[in-house]
Amino acid sequence: MATDYDAPRKNEEDLSEDSIEELKARRSEKSSATVDEDEAEAAEGFELPGADLSGEELSVRVLPRQADEFTCAKCFLVHHRSQLAYEDGGQLVCSECAA
Ligand SMILES: [Zn+2]
Repeated sequence: MATDYDAPRKNEEDLSEDSIEELKARRSEKSSATVDEDEAEAAEGFELPGADLSGEELSVRVLPRQADEFTCAKCFLVHHRSQLAYEDGGQLVCSECAA
């Protein structure tokens, strides 16, 4: 009876040990795989907006002053023509600086 009782117990232990080791192996495999995926996704997510931002900055710098805009001679900001207060010897002054 004792041997009959021990036999299935040993089998259970062996099974559980095997399954635990299998789980551990699967877990480490899975976790390392997900980490690699996350890193790749994070790198992609980081690069795309960065490229868009630099493109916007470039387009803003390259854009020429519009015909209906002027650069104030006092604050050096580009204002719409409607904000022009007066012209002082060819220098355009915005209404904010004239006030
Ligand atoms: Zn101004």
